[in-house]
Amino acid sequence: MTDNKTLPTEVPTLYIVPTPIGNLGDITQRAIDVLTNVDLVAAEDTRHTGKLLSHFGIQTKTFALHDHNEQQKAQVLVDKLLAGHSIALVSDAGTPLISDPGYHLVTQCRQAGVKVVPLPGACAVITALSASGLPSDRFSFEGFLPAKSKGRKDKFLEIAKVERTCVFYESPHRILDSLDDMLEILGPEREVVLARELTKTFETIQGMPLGELVEWVKSDSNQQRGEMALLIHGYRSTDDDSIAEEVKRTLAILTKELPLKKAAAMTAEIYNLKKNALYKWGLENLD
Ligand code: SAM
Repeated sequence: MTDNKTLPTEVPTLYIVPTPIGNLGDITQRAIDVLTNVDLVAAEDTRHTGKLLSHFGIQTKTFALHDHNEQQKAQVLVDKLLAGHSIALVSDAGTPLISDPGYHLVTQCRQAGVKVVPLPGACAVITALSASGLPSDRFSFEGFLPAKSKGRKDKFLEIAKVERTCVFYESPHRILDSLDDMLEILGPEREVVLARELTKTFETIQGMPLGELVEWVKSDSNQQRGEMALLIHGYRSTDDDSIAEEVKRTLAILTKELPLKKAAAMTAEIYNLKKNALYKWGLENLD
């Protein structure tokens, strides 16, 4: 059963309104109706949102609410809501609050007893997951990867044994460094999907073992451009089976005398194996 009611005009409401992540055709009719009928649109970037609104012939006033002023401006918006105005919250693209501002506003609204109504709509993590071919029965959205290598490696170590699909957002400037760090920690066999420019002209959704994906991205600079999400297959206990017990024992003995990196390289040479997989196993299993 559907309910076409868009604006319950008697109650001031904060609407959470997703906007397209590339293809303007992905806005919903309900989003257009809400954006047209509210008193104010709170937007991450009022110029950016102004263009979207004018594309759809919407003349509603905008109000800037971004990461740097949200905590302080949220109270202004709550006061307007309590005074009887209805407000729509949008971000530059996709669903507000998903790696975007809005958390403080929604929290303060709920604390003040203001009604919060979410609209479903575009979101890069869900769009990417739905076509990735990776298990989607359980997944973990991890937001943006840390900007520094140490932070990224720590993050990959944290998720190395997580059995759910993990999804990250990444910027094109860091994609090569991030893939290198991922390779070092998760090894070349882990299946990874790069979902790029979703809903746009150059949409690409490419999945392969991480070692191959790194080479593919390095060899084609187009794959280093645009907006992108990385999806990592969850850990499978069989991932470790390829390392024989004798190899693990050798690595453990060498690690008592040598740094892990060196010990992994020597063990790899002795048994003619890939050092990354041994290094990763050592990181996860040896002190
Ligand atoms: N709120 C948005 C959402 O619902 O997905 C995410 C906003 S976050 C600031 C922007 C990041 O989302 C981009 O850097 C990229 O990692 C991811 N993203 C956004 N649009 C995308 C697209 N069309 N294709 C792939 N990733 C996208």
